[in-house]
Amino acid sequence: MSTLRFHAIKETFNRPVIDVKEAERRSAVFGSNVFNEAAMRQYLTKDSYKSVKDAIVNGSKIERNVADHISTGMKEWAISKGATHYTHWFQPLTGTTAEKHDAFFETTDDGGAIEKFGGGQLVQQEPDASSFPNGGIRNTFEARGYTAWDPTSPAFIYGTTLCIPTVFVAYTGEALDNKTPLLRALQSIDQAATAVAKYFDKSVTKVNPTLGWEQEYFLIDKALAASRPDISMAGRTLLGHTSAKGQQLDDHYFGSITRRVLDYMRDLENECMLLGIPVKTRHNEVAPNQFELAPIFEETNLAVDHNSLLMDVMAKVADRHEFKVLFHEKPFAGVNGSGKHNNWSLATNTGVNLLGPSSTPMKNLQFLTFFINTIKAVNDYEELLRASIASASNDHRLGANEAPPAIISVFIGSQLTTVLDQLEKLKNGKLSPEDKTDLKLNVVGKIPEILLDNTDRNRTSPFAFTGNKFEFRAVGSTANCAKPMTVLNAIVAKQLIDFKTEVDKLIKGKKMKKDDAIFNVLKGYIKDSKRIRFEGDGYGEAWEKEAKKRKLSNNKTTPQALKAQISKSTISLYEDLGIMSKVEIEARHEIEVEEYAMRIQIEGRILGDIARNHVIPTGIRYQNLLIENVQGLKDIYGNTFKKHATEQMELIEAISGHIAKINKGITDMINERKKANTIEDAEKRAFAYCDKVKPYFEEIRYHCDKLELLVDDEIWPLTKYRELLFTR
Ligand code: ADP
Ligand code: MG
Repeated sequence: MSTLRFHAIKETFNRPVIDVKEAERRSAVFGSNVFNEAAMRQYLTKDSYKSVKDAIVNGSKIERNVADHISTGMKEWAISKGATHYTHWFQPLTGTTAEKHDAFFETTDDGGAIEKFGGGQLVQQEPDASSFPNGGIRNTFEARGYTAWDPTSPAFIYGTTLCIPTVFVAYTGEALDNKTPLLRALQSIDQAATAVAKYFDKSVTKVNPTLGWEQEYFLIDKALAASRPDISMAGRTLLGHTSAKGQQLDDHYFGSITRRVLDYMRDLENECMLLGIPVKTRHNEVAPNQFELAPIFEETNLAVDHNSLLMDVMAKVADRHEFKVLFHEKPFAGVNGSGKHNNWSLATNTGVNLLGPSSTPMKNLQFLTFFINTIKAVNDYEELLRASIASASNDHRLGANEAPPAIISVFIGSQLTTVLDQLEKLKNGKLSPEDKTDLKLNVVGKIPEILLDNTDRNRTSPFAFTGNKFEFRAVGSTANCAKPMTVLNAIVAKQLIDFKTEVDKLIKGKKMKKDDAIFNVLKGYIKDSKRIRFEGDGYGEAWEKEAKKRKLSNNKTTPQALKAQISKSTISLYEDLGIMSKVEIEARHEIEVEEYAMRIQIEGRILGDIARNHVIPTGIRYQNLLIENVQGLKDIYGNTFKKHATEQMELIEAISGHIAKINKGITDMINERKKANTIEDAEKRAFAYCDKVKPYFEEIRYHCDKLELLVDDEIWPLTKYRELLFTR
């Protein structure tokens, strides 16, 4: 084993055990670092408290003098918890979170000092926005950006810093972050869904979309990760032969969690409790060293913030335990990658889950309404939904050799399929009394019963109904959930608005009864959105063919998928709902294609460096050893030496062959990179990186991995898959 690998692995064995106890009663510590209801009641005046609540529930504006009161209360609370700094915490279009800490500390005129935090500092700040991606918005409008307090997501203390969740927008109003469009989409769906829910229950005044994400990740020892330039810089391995043992024995999934990992998870969960992130489930995943963490679902804006915060906390806690967390969707070839299922539903202020079937037929008509409208929305905007989860790293799952496929489809299970089939058969127009009775007794009335034993859950579907929620499974593990959640909530909002218009037209124009009108419209939707429903195996080639016939998109790469973001239908969707303007939409697209090209460029450089500086020299060293050996055999055996040196000679030949291929691959790849870099247009550049540069990765890797198998383990410098995946 090479010295480098030896030391990295040795370090893992010397890791001290950090004994972490589980918080005794989670409920007792939960949210203690959050400026939540309890803290607000204690630290705010009655009026300030009411004003914040009003802003949260009704979106009302908080007056400046009230903000001063709130900031004072917040500061007192934060200082009592040991905070010394505050920051506006936001989610720029880099996909991660950003913060700039300022101390509460300020000097006074008389040479003293005080702790200060005014309403102005709570409500608005101006980070140096020019260093964040803006897709040309700033150049076009010469606008500065500012962050503004989002009272719907409570402030929290992380470390010694009071973090205030904020939106990030340009002074000209364009959103520069992931949160702003999300909040607008959530507002749209609230209005649209409330209007529809009122058909069934007049007392509904608000609908909150809910989100429960499931975060998958790999945990690798820090020293091992640091020994690999590709993991350190790209978050994934760009080469490495698969180990003899991978996940074929299925012995990791739900297996017992090792001591060191469990200590990490405990520490992480304790942190989550303080921060009010309601994590609940932890378990091993399918691949070795792969795990999952899932919370109790929450209102979507908060759930999105909590996921972003969690990813940050995970990395920091891992560091404490000498681990590195890999969020990449495919850190290792040959074993499963990671996703982030987004479980989504709609909850009313009256406590009803609109996607939860119930025992009364009337309530089930409500269920069917939201269920079918969601399917219709996904049918109409499948390509945009695919675009919302596109990234260079997620391309390794979608459309590559891993489920789910790049084709968006909806799985609902055989029982609900039967229900929709029956509804589809209804005659147009007013329902006969017999039809109605039949519907009530045999179709709508049966739903909760049949759902209970709905066990045929399809694991290959990108978008599946799972009993009382939809599960968007194609979301990648690195994703900021705001993106898919903005799209999903926007398209369902648009769909519900259209639905209500159509139903009202039948009620008023055709003098239909409400139920009849609803059934009529739903029936049409079932027919129109049949192509999106798919119950079969999403992995297979057969589905690709079938999907093509159904005219479903199959965009396997990010540049291709992102096109839907700037299509006419997307622009009018966002403009109609007031979620984003054309300028904002185009800016975002530009940022994403640019980011894509940069990521492939970085990976290309890393791969080139590793292959030329680590792999080829090692191949040559081993070849020299062989040559020396052949030379020695010649000395001993003279003319008959060949008989004794056949294998060695073959190896020498093979090594030369691989080295030549690697070297040529790198040269050609660099040439393609140079060409790509001269392309002005960001989208075209992304396509060049995708179609011309990236294909060399496989080719170069293939020969590097072959060399890994040939070369003496003693001198191979890169930590091997078996060491990365089975040391913990
Ligand atoms: P799995 O998909 O791993 O089998 P589950 O189906 O139990 O797990 O889903 C777990 C996730 O679904 C959790 O994050 C949970 O909070 C979330 N979830 C459950 N109900 C809802 C809901 N009504 N809205 C949003 N998310 C939900
Ligand atoms: Mg799931």
